[in-house]
Amino acid sequence: GSVIGILGGGQLGRMLALAAARLGLSCHIYDPAPAPPAAQVAAACTTADWEDAEALEAFARAVDVVTYEFENVPTAALDRIEAIRPIRPNRRALATSQDRLTEKAFLEDCGLAVAPHAAVSSRDELGAALEEIGTPSILKTRRLGYDGKGQARITDPARADAAWEAVSGAPSVLEGFVEFGAEVSVIGARGVDGQVACFDPGVNRHEDGILRTTTVPAGLPVALLTDAVLLTGKVLNALDYVGVIGVELFVTPGGLVVNEFAPRVHNSGHWTQTGCAICQFEQHVRAICGWPLGDGARHSDVVMENLIGADVDRVPELAASGAALHLYGKAEARPGRKMGHVNRITGPA
Ligand code: ATP
Ligand code: MG
Ligand code: MG
Repeated sequence: GSVIGILGGGQLGRMLALAAARLGLSCHIYDPAPAPPAAQVAAACTTADWEDAEALEAFARAVDVVTYEFENVPTAALDRIEAIRPIRPNRRALATSQDRLTEKAFLEDCGLAVAPHAAVSSRDELGAALEEIGTPSILKTRRLGYDGKGQARITDPARADAAWEAVSGAPSVLEGFVEFGAEVSVIGARGVDGQVACFDPGVNRHEDGILRTTTVPAGLPVALLTDAVLLTGKVLNALDYVGVIGVELFVTPGGLVVNEFAPRVHNSGHWTQTGCAICQFEQHVRAICGWPLGDGARHSDVVMENLIGADVDRVPELAASGAALHLYGKAEARPGRKMGHVNRITGPA
């Protein structure tokens, strides 16, 4: 297809649209909020909510293939679109990752290790789950969480009430705290023909539940990184996936534990814009349009740093530093808001 429809118009949609433009393709954004970051660089933007059947159908007819950068598009909206145009990655990938409990069951079915966990749908079940899982643990809402939102850490079972309040009594999952030595992620891709390609795993550092930096090379044993790539291939194949995926992993003495996956381009893959001939955004566009996947081999060592909230005040100094700067065109630098990122080459690969 030559027009890509993107559900969600945040920075991920913006960078997808920029990559698509380089390939001579155009993008049409759909976002409930007016003037989202992606609209500045896309050919068209529909501002309408997810319940607007007419707008959804007109959007679908105006494009050739539909993808998403926002994972919480309501099912009914997806049904309307899918009746008209293909959605890639497919609905199963989206539905699986939307619910942490479904996601963990799927990963276990793939033979992969996940954190010890128990479903919690009431205050009583939280008590039972705490007995089973113990502390420290993390209570996470099953749906809608991102950047560490909708989570409460529990170090003392006596503080269970506060945690239950923190998730507003929403259906949740209690996860045992994984004592990890490092967090890594794999950005993988699968084409329409089933071809799989993964970028070099990066090591991630989070602050306050938000990704702060991603570094490649990860500086971990090759065998472990190979495991990470292989398990990503397993997930891609099991979902009959088309597009780019981000798989987040904990490195533990017992091996890799899968935290979660995102059925889209991923913040921890932004380094590929500077470290590879073909970045995750182009790779996603290639995959969903049925093109052959590109060469994602890493040619440079890179540190990606997110610019969050008031970090944008450092832009003049960063601009002078010679590093590759990416700004998302967001007017207001609220605390915790991702405003841009910077990719620094630290050497040849
Ligand atoms: P994202 O923005 O990546 O979607 P999220 O809100 O879905 O974030 P998680 O990825 O589940 O949140 O958790 C955020 C971070 O909290 C993780 O990257 C990790 O550092 C820490 N964390 C989450 N779950 C656990 C766990 N079971 N054990 C130890 N640390 C954890
Ligand atoms: Mg998440
Ligand atoms: Mg995460």
